[in-house]
Formats: sequence, structure tokens, C-alpha cells
Amino acid sequence: IRVLGIETSCDETAASVVGLREGAAPEILSNVVLSQIEEHAAFGGVVPEIAARAHVEALDGIIEAALADSDISLAEIDAIAATAGPGLVGGLIVGLMTAKAIAAATGKPLIAVNHLEGHALTARLTDGLDFPYLLLLVSGGHTQIVLVRGVGDYQRWATTIDDALGEAFDKTAKMLGLPYPGGPNVEKTAANGDAKRFAFPRPMKGEARPDFSFSGLKTAVRQAATAIAPLSEQDVADICASFQAAVSDALGDRVRRSLVRFREEYPDVKTPALVVAGGVAANREIRSTLETLCAGHGFSFIAPPHVLCTDNAAMIAWAGIERIRAGLVEPGAMDFVPRSRWPLDSISAPMIGSGR
Ligand code: ATP
Ligand code: MG
Ligand code: FE
Repeated sequence: IRVLGIETSCDETAASVVGLREGAAPEILSNVVLSQIEEHAAFGGVVPEIAARAHVEALDGIIEAALADSDISLAEIDAIAATAGPGLVGGLIVGLMTAKAIAAATGKPLIAVNHLEGHALTARLTDGLDFPYLLLLVSGGHTQIVLVRGVGDYQRWATTIDDALGEAFDKTAKMLGLPYPGGPNVEKTAANGDAKRFAFPRPMKGEARPDFSFSGLKTAVRQAATAIAPLSEQDVADICASFQAAVSDALGDRVRRSLVRFREEYPDVKTPALVVAGGVAANREIRSTLETLCAGHGFSFIAPPHVLCTDNAAMIAWAGIERIRAGLVEPGAMDFVPRSRWPLDSISAPMIGSGR
């Protein structure tokens, strides 16, 4: 099976060809990602209008590049998979409409993929992981723990009650005058800081419910910064380091609850796994906190390569292959309307339709 994947849900325009031969490991034949970071940097965040227009301009060329890189012609593709939600609706329309046009012109099936399902199944593309496992998704728009039971079978165990973790990084960076995107800059700056200087709160720590919260932390950072303004370079570094320490600590506490719950619900799974996805998964301190936590609970810790953790189309193509292979075929994708909101655990009917 060879599937062309298309991803346009946020600020990356991406296309990829993924192939699977029975009995062999899946192959990423091409994976082209164009980030719009520079277009949005001046505004300190993603501007939906600008994103949609940039997708329109770039997508055809990105698809051509993905096909050229893969050495596979459109005729040899078995299906087209495109992100249909959740995300910014302007971008989703661009990607899904383009995919519908290709499907209509070639007569090949179209698969409308949930972006979160792409993240959820990536560890099977990279590591051949078996179900069930836990996914921690930490990005600019999402912070959740999902039980991945099978293709199309997800249960959200925890989510943020306010800000996403990447958003907390980005807002903290902005407050401190660090450039966008904030996450990598907070991490870099924190390396020169004293993590013990500020005792920031660990939101939700110790609470029985498994959810996340980060807005209180953001407020604490603002108060600390205001109290000692004007900030020296060292002050900024110390705030970043203290913020990162608080985040890692709080995150570890939250994830622990779900590891324990997994153990209780699946006592027969011999080596349970926690998979991370999303841009925040690049953070080394967060990674090492999670690694230690997993080791302590007998979980294997799986972090796919960075390019496959952040938004990309290989995960969308792969989700398409998984759906085809699982026999989750159903007409309707050609009529699918992009959904800005589309929770993973609400996926009931798989969406596959024929171009003709
Ligand atoms: P979505 O949530 O829809 O998948 P997104 O584009 O916001 O969309 P990603 O591209 O996966 O998500 O990740 C971007 C986020 O990751 C940003 O908030 C960024 O600040 C954060 N991030 C990236 N690198 C790091 C890092 N080293 N440390 C902390 N956060 C980081
Ligand atoms: Mg992004
Ligand atoms: Fe994403």
C-alpha cells in the first residue's frame, strides 16, 4: 500500500508518501514539511488568515516535491489521506479540498484523517508498537494523555483545563521578551539559569483527577517578572530555568497518575509504553523527567524523531494506511466538511470515500 498524506491544520504545509509491504516495516518514502514560522514570527503567534494563504501558495509545490522525492508517480499511489481536523479551518479547507480534487481526478480513495490520530499512531510507524499504549501529546494546541487501544479506538484520560503546555512556553517567552517560537528559546535560555531561584507553583500536583493546568504558572511567572523588573539577562535565565523545572515537575506528577491507571487496567501487558508527541516533546528536561518516571514504573519511553513528533504529513499518510489495513472503509470522505474541533475519542465512523 502506498498513501499520499497531506497536512495543513496549523502552521506547517506538509506532504509525504508512506509505503507498506506486507511482512516488512513501513517506509517513509518522502516527508516534506514547510514551516511558516517566519511568516508568523512578527506577530508572536500563528495568524489564521496568513496561515491559510500560505498553505494555498505552497501546497501544490509541496505535494509535487513529496511525489518527486519518493520516486513514485501519482498513478502508483493507492489512496490520498488528508488532515480534516482539528485545527485552523482555513488551512484544513485548503488541504482537504486539494486532496478531494486529486481523489476526484485520479479516482483514488480519499481518507479524511483526524490530526490527533496521526500523532497517536506515529509510534507504530517508527517503532512498530503494539496496542494498547499511552500517548502524551504536548504541543502548542494540545496537552492530553490518550489511551490508544486500536486504530480508531481512543480514550482520552487527561487534558488541560486551561492552557496547552506549548502555549504556556510561548506566553512565558513573550512575557520575557524572548523571540517566537517560545519553547526552544525558553529551553536555551534556561540552560544558563538557576532553577531554584523562583519557587513557581506546580499546578494540580497531588490532585486525584488526572488533568493538567498551566495558566496559574503563567500568572506566577508574570508576577515574579513584574516584581523584579527591569529584568537582567540573568533574571530572565533564572525565570526560564525555574519555569521549566516547575513544568517538568507538574507534568511528571500528572503523567504518573495515568501510568498507574494503565497498570491497573492492563495488568497483563508485560512492557507497557508511553509515547510522546508534539513540539514540546523536544524539550530535554521534560524528556529526561519522563524517562526517569517511565523507568521507575516499568514503562518503556518512546520518543519518535523530532520531525515526526511535530506536525508532518507522514503521520497522516500512515494513519491512512492503518485505516485501510484495519478495513475501516466507509464512503463519505468526499463529503466530509473540515472540523476545527474534532476530539479523538469522538471518532466513531472511519471516513473513507471513493473519488468516483
Ligand atoms: P498542534 O497542537 O495543532 O499540533 P502546534 O503547531 O502548536 O500544533 P507543534 O508544531 O507540535 O504544535 O509544536 C509547537 C509547540 O512546541 C510550540 O508551542 C513550541 O513553543 C513548543 N516547543 C518546541 N520546541 C520546544 C522546546 N524545546 N521546549 C518547549 N517547548 C517547545
Ligand atoms: Mg506547528
Ligand atoms: Fe500537531
